[in-house]
Amino acid sequence: MLYDNHNRPLRYLRLAVTERCNLRCHYCMPEEGLPWSKKDQILTYEEMLRLVEILANLGISKVRITGGEPFVRKDLLPFMGELKQIKGIDKLNITTNGTAPLSSIETMEQIGVNSVNLSLDSIDAERFAKITRRDEFEKVWNYYKLLEQSTLNTKINAVVMENHNLGDILPMSALTVNDDVSIRFIEEMPFNGGSKGYTPIEWNFRRIIDHIKTQYPDLEKLDDAKSSTSYNYQIPGAKGSIGVIPAYSRTICGTCDRIRLTPKGELMTCLYQNKGFSFRDFMRDGATDKDIKEKFLKLFGQRAKDGFESEKRKEETGSFQSMATIGG
Ligand code: SAM
Repeated sequence: MLYDNHNRPLRYLRLAVTERCNLRCHYCMPEEGLPWSKKDQILTYEEMLRLVEILANLGISKVRITGGEPFVRKDLLPFMGELKQIKGIDKLNITTNGTAPLSSIETMEQIGVNSVNLSLDSIDAERFAKITRRDEFEKVWNYYKLLEQSTLNTKINAVVMENHNLGDILPMSALTVNDDVSIRFIEEMPFNGGSKGYTPIEWNFRRIIDHIKTQYPDLEKLDDAKSSTSYNYQIPGAKGSIGVIPAYSRTICGTCDRIRLTPKGELMTCLYQNKGFSFRDFMRDGATDKDIKEKFLKLFGQRAKDGFESEKRKEETGSFQSMATIGG
């Protein structure tokens, strides 16, 4: 088992394969997109496979593919098939906006993908278009419906934003009554790549749950897995469940077991940190597998205690990026 300097086990890698996205969610990036990196600044699949193999040897057993929108990168599915073959990787998951062809669902089933997180901030087509700045609701909804019938474990992520989708909290909670889906409401974070200003949120996880209880007063608290990032609940008798993710309140850092590799190959051991060490440059400068392993271990030994400590370090050095460049 791999541990950090605060005695937290590290098991989970979030691997961002691209910064690019075909949607423009205003809480994530500006309308015109981000200053995209050139192709040779992004890790190749071969480089990613090398890093994941080393991490799997160290004890990482779960990988989530994210981005940007992972499906905008060419040959994603064959790459995922290769990842699934790496010894020690027991779970392979993906986070997507659900605009990929429906056939990707069957291919993911064949590869043995375990779980899909679908980002869906509204089930109202008009609100969806306003938030994402794209008219893709129908496509995403069809993706959800097919996912729900598939063997893939499905979760929906919805960022809660005042003046945008508060009206979705109850209808989306109601979806869990008949659908075997976990809907997770996420607190909005400041990582919007300069898309807009950011003021500390009014709707934190406690307020979201209180709001759901106005409609479902018997909402039951479920047991949370030890390293879960969400606090989980269920409407009595429902097939699915409801979670809240305190992404801004950061009450869950004490059990955080995840690390991130950005599309450019920087290691982030905390979401709120500023810049990470570049494994891309390290590898391209000729680092051996042993060098890489030692570097990972050194950085895991310097992990911030929580997102507040990281944020303090960040304030000294730089500004907030987008979740697409960090890896959502
Ligand atoms: N394109 C994929 C998708 O839409 O799921 C994966 C990348 S996206 C950056 C991953 C997740 O980050 C999404 O669920 C998105 O809602 C979330 N996210 C992005 N910016 C955020 C922010 N400022 N606050 C909270 N969540 C955010």
